[in-house]
Amino acid sequence: MRTGFWAGVQLGMWGLCGLFLAGCEEKQASKGDGYPLGDGYPLKVCVVSGEPLGSMGEPAAIVYEGKTVKFCCSGCEGDFRKDPLTYLAKITNAKP
Ligand SMILES: [Zn+2]
Repeated sequence: MRTGFWAGVQLGMWGLCGLFLAGCEEKQASKGDGYPLGDGYPLKVCVVSGEPLGSMGEPAAIVYEGKTVKFCCSGCEGDFRKDPLTYLAKITNAKP
């Protein structure tokens, strides 16, 4: 029953591939202008609006005092800059 075995192995590899690709897509979606996006950023939502990142198109991101901050859209960056400490706390508290 070697055929069955290999079919199982191939199915398993396809499954792994799917997981891998899904992870890649997530990272690609958060790629920005040379910022280290997607590297341990704890939030999947905009710190300002709470909307899922990417729900408004390409997520916006900045580096504020060495910390990456992501927004659902560039409009939220303006709100962040009005009260950065509040929003930074949200990111800090979200870390495990
Ligand atoms: Zn927004």
